[in-house]
Amino acid sequence: MLFDYHMHTPLCGHATGHPREYAAEAIRKGLGEIGFSEHNPMPEKFDDWRMDLSDFSRYLELLEEARKEHPQLPIRLGLECDFIPGREAWVRQLGQKADFDYLIGAVHYITPDWDVDNPLKLDRWKQQPVEEVWTRYFRALAQAAQSGLFDFLAHPDLVKKFGHIPKGDLLPYYREALDAIEASGMVIEVSTAGLRKEVAEIYPSPKFLQEAFRRKIPVLLSSDSHAPGEVGHEFARALKLVRETGYRELTAFRKRQKIRIPIS
Ligand SMILES: [Zn+2]
Ligand SMILES: [Zn+2]
Repeated sequence: MLFDYHMHTPLCGHATGHPREYAAEAIRKGLGEIGFSEHNPMPEKFDDWRMDLSDFSRYLELLEEARKEHPQLPIRLGLECDFIPGREAWVRQLGQKADFDYLIGAVHYITPDWDVDNPLKLDRWKQQPVEEVWTRYFRALAQAAQSGLFDFLAHPDLVKKFGHIPKGDLLPYYREALDAIEASGMVIEVSTAGLRKEVAEIYPSPKFLQEAFRRKIPVLLSSDSHAPGEVGHEFARALKLVRETGYRELTAFRKRQKIRIPIS
């Protein structure tokens, strides 16, 4: 059974389609289960790409509407939460707002004002060496794992999105984050979203994934859908990569508990 836990709704302002349309697409593609993971609200106006706190109950309603229309498809409740140092208590508070199946931890911000995947901030890449950006990013990812706030980590090497990649062996950049993820018992996404970006590669890289497998870090497949057509995008390819790396199971979640799903 394949499932996709990373999808958005129009409430974040940069995704299209009602959750019922995502559900219909999931059924069409033969997925056994889906989950939504809107960008987490902040207590104040923070940036322009997340759900407002005042829309949280609407978020729950949208999922309920999708469930009513597609009762045969389990639809889980998640949230994609930015890891931002100093905001840990807020994420904890958010986790109490509903009966979540999972919280996804995501590093987008590597400084208080640079969301490294933001196409409007590409100029920033000219202001510092790529090595420094990568070091910052994976340090933040390690901190996200150490925080203990999340059930799985989104797009583990998102920093490569636009194709800014240091030369040489990348393992030294990954190591601190992999250590922290291994110690935390957390799961990581194998996300096909990277295939739709400039880098045109799954998140994480094969090298990162091999190291994750060696450390017995569990995985799941995600699309990071921002439109119904993206649900389950290129999952056959992601599954092949995961299998070739050696994995024989994926990890699902119910009420923040891990469930091991064998892959054939
Ligand atoms: Zn988004
Ligand atoms: Zn996302």
